[in-house]
Amino acid sequence: MRPTVCYSCGADLEETGEHCHRCGAVVPTNIPNYPRFGGGGFIVTIWILFLVLVAVYVISWISMD
Ligand SMILES: [Zn+2]
Repeated sequence: MRPTVCYSCGADLEETGEHCHRCGAVVPTNIPNYPRFGGGGFIVTIWILFLVLVAVYVISWISMD
């Protein structure tokens, strides 16, 4: 996931290119787990679904007796 602004000078980055067009700083082209909610939203959704499934299973198991 590419950053949208230069980390060095704050200029808006173009969609292509490995360097900032203003200051020449190297643009990181692949940042794993970019710390934003949009990046990890899918994993969070999976975790919430998993926890809900576990809760439903536990509740049904308790009420089964
Ligand atoms: Zn820059």
